[in-house]
Amino acid sequence: MSSERPDINAHSEGLPALERTLFDAIPDAVYLIDPVTSNILDCNRHAYEDLYLTREQVLNHSVLSLQTDVRGLPAWAEIADVIRQNRVYRFHGHHRRPDGSSLPVEVNTQAVVYQGREWFVSVARDITKRQCSSQSEQDWSVLYDLADGVWDWRVADGSLYFSPNLKRFLGYGPDEMEPVLSTWKDNVHPDDLPIVLGALDEHLPGRRSQFFATYRLRNRNGFYLWVEDHGVVTDYLPNGEPARVVGFINDVTDYKTLEVALQKEATRDSLTGLFNRRRGMELLLETFNETVKPQSNTRVELSLLVIDLDFFKRINDLYGHLEGDEVLRIAGSLILKSLPENAVAFRWGGEEFLVALPGTSLAEARERAEKIRQAFVNPEWPPGIEGECVTVSIGIAQYPQEATQLIELIAAADKAVYRAKRLGRNRVESNSYELLQ
Ligand code: GH3
Ligand code: MG
Ligand code: MG
Repeated sequence: MSSERPDINAHSEGLPALERTLFDAIPDAVYLIDPVTSNILDCNRHAYEDLYLTREQVLNHSVLSLQTDVRGLPAWAEIADVIRQNRVYRFHGHHRRPDGSSLPVEVNTQAVVYQGREWFVSVARDITKRQCSSQSEQDWSVLYDLADGVWDWRVADGSLYFSPNLKRFLGYGPDEMEPVLSTWKDNVHPDDLPIVLGALDEHLPGRRSQFFATYRLRNRNGFYLWVEDHGVVTDYLPNGEPARVVGFINDVTDYKTLEVALQKEATRDSLTGLFNRRRGMELLLETFNETVKPQSNTRVELSLLVIDLDFFKRINDLYGHLEGDEVLRIAGSLILKSLPENAVAFRWGGEEFLVALPGTSLAEARERAEKIRQAFVNPEWPPGIEGECVTVSIGIAQYPQEATQLIELIAAADKAVYRAKRLGRNRVESNSYELLQ
């Protein structure tokens, strides 16, 4: 033993008889630990008797070997630092016994200096009784008022207890909802299930301190409610596997519905209902990147259309801005109706719209643009301007023939629409005649 290490023989085995008697009479388990190695240098009678061990089986073994749930704990050096930083370092854990059972303990550890050396003194208190009372059915019921539902999952046999208010919340009677894991799993929205199971997978092995997920849960009428679910492993098997997980559920449907509506508002143009410029540009960039990707499924071609209403200022001047707004709204829906499903369409600004047609040749894009232009002939315009003739000019630019960068492609389509204006409006144009041949 190095001269730096505590020499236990000099201190404990040689404890005077009275001190040893008093030490053994303490009703908790007391360990004297070497701060460097984590080895137990001395202990009192409770320390080994409570674990059905002999004194020899405990001495000179690492104190960490007593724990059933040491798996997630940081290395001993880090634990030792934490002990030094706290006046008393306290945690709840389980001490293992040779017969496979475990003893729930509250452990208080502190660093002491004795005869110029550092020692750790650890006192482990049996909290079996405390745990029994805290897990009683009566105590859980206190939680029912704090949450919309409480659940209790025994991992090994897959049984899952649902509190009465959880059943009520989902529209079930007291005798419904079979208390098994699949009852819950089968009612989680299929789109949310991977996220929920992922969150559980993070918590069970201890990578996250808590299970937490927001997801949709189906009620008895088949309607999905949004819930926030929190859970935590409360009991472990002797091998460290989780044995029991307890959690609570709260209804957040109102808040989530509002969030979804706000999200929609943030991505849509309020007048036409089309995507707004910010969201539209994001989608356009995604579509463009997908097209230019080497192993893209779509044809490595993309047409971009800039659609601009002709003499729109005149509509505002003649009929007022409100009528002008109505024309814009109808223009948006006429454009949408003329597009294939994979098109990206959005309001670029004012009376201009931008459309991307992935996997489309210039000839096909021109056909599509003509369809849009013709959709504006005699549509249902609002009363007051029924007889009005609203037309559009459309400019087309083609990837990869005209530009390889998105920004250049937009500039090319913009140039083409000005060409259409110059050539008399109410027409479809691109920048190059050769491309149209
Ligand atoms: P051109 O054929 O050359 O495109 O002529 P134009 O009148 O359509 O073009 P200009 O750019 O001169 O005018 C566009 C007008 O669109 C001006 C603006 O007041 C109007 N506008 C832009 N956004 C809105 C809107 O949200 N509502 C209404 N009512 N008008 C709008
Ligand atoms: Mg314009
Ligand atoms: Mg215009």
